[in-house]
Amino acid sequence: MLIVMKQDATADEIAAVVTIINTMGYEARPMPGRQRTTVGLVGNDGRVDASTIEGMAGVAEIIHVSKPYKQVSREWKAESTRIALPDGTTIGDREVVVMAGPCSVESEEQILAAARAVKAAGATVLRGGAFKPRSSPYAFQGLARRGLELLDLAREETGLLIVTEAMDTEGLEAVAEVADIIQIGARSMQNYPLLKACGKLRKPILLKRGLAATITELLLSAEYILAEGNTNVMLCERGIRSFDTTTRNLFDVAAIPVVHSLSHLPIIADPSHGTGHRDMVPPMARAAVAAGADGLLVEVHPNPERAMSDGAQSLFPDQFERMMREVGAIADVIGRSLATVGSAV
Ligand code: PEP
Ligand code: MN
Repeated sequence: MLIVMKQDATADEIAAVVTIINTMGYEARPMPGRQRTTVGLVGNDGRVDASTIEGMAGVAEIIHVSKPYKQVSREWKAESTRIALPDGTTIGDREVVVMAGPCSVESEEQILAAARAVKAAGATVLRGGAFKPRSSPYAFQGLARRGLELLDLAREETGLLIVTEAMDTEGLEAVAEVADIIQIGARSMQNYPLLKACGKLRKPILLKRGLAATITELLLSAEYILAEGNTNVMLCERGIRSFDTTTRNLFDVAAIPVVHSLSHLPIIADPSHGTGHRDMVPPMARAAVAAGADGLLVEVHPNPERAMSDGAQSLFPDQFERMMREVGAIADVIGRSLATVGSAV
């Protein structure tokens, strides 16, 4: 439930609304806006008597959020969320942020070569998994803490920001120390203890859509993070399982405008896991930017044929460079531009 205050509501009137919500045993989230303040009532279990609040001084109207997810909905917050990154760029605004790099961090030589290549092509964030959730327990599981150290090294050398996955609550702290953006993988989308732990942090979280999750389920998972207080959440479309095995997953381009209409949170597109084949990645990256994606997450490897994971969907550096020029041109057509450090608007 949302309590919309009048434009001229005083600080005392807003405070009185907060107090009554707390007295009823719920949490109040005052959200000052450009025009007026709204106060969110968190945790409504259907027993709230709206009429008590409706009659209070300074209250303009009460909005009942109809969706199962509340704080992530556009009803709750009409303005798009903008996530400020440490390099001065912003996710969820005009800029399209490109995050690129290998599926896994494999060695110092590999991650540094990847970092230099994606930076030269214009990416501002380096991706690379140190903790890898693999379908087989016998597959390469990542370099773990050593992988985090190598990402740190790559950031030091290139100035790129780092996005990397946290697989469990035990490893979250170590990942949070190094990552500028913490990735929650598709397989963890419904790991509720992990989502709650991310909610206690203030670092940006990139939440990937589950392997067979509906958009509603994705938004409900994001709600877990916001409910704990972290509003710096971006969603990620990475394809869903379908009956057709021609592609690894079915890349749901429509999820991009759907998420934008249902939620104020930014949405990133991952055409690498979305298709599973490197030749399909650039066309789907172009489609995603055209559809309004706020960023791209793309796998690029200095030597994809020797990659320890996801080589078939990893771009060669020269392919990535071409893709960047193409998505840059598309961004331009729709009044956006690729994020570059120092170009923040
Ligand atoms: C990844 O980004 O390398 C990854 C494991 O992705 P997903 O969780 O989408 O499968
Ligand atoms: Mn991968």
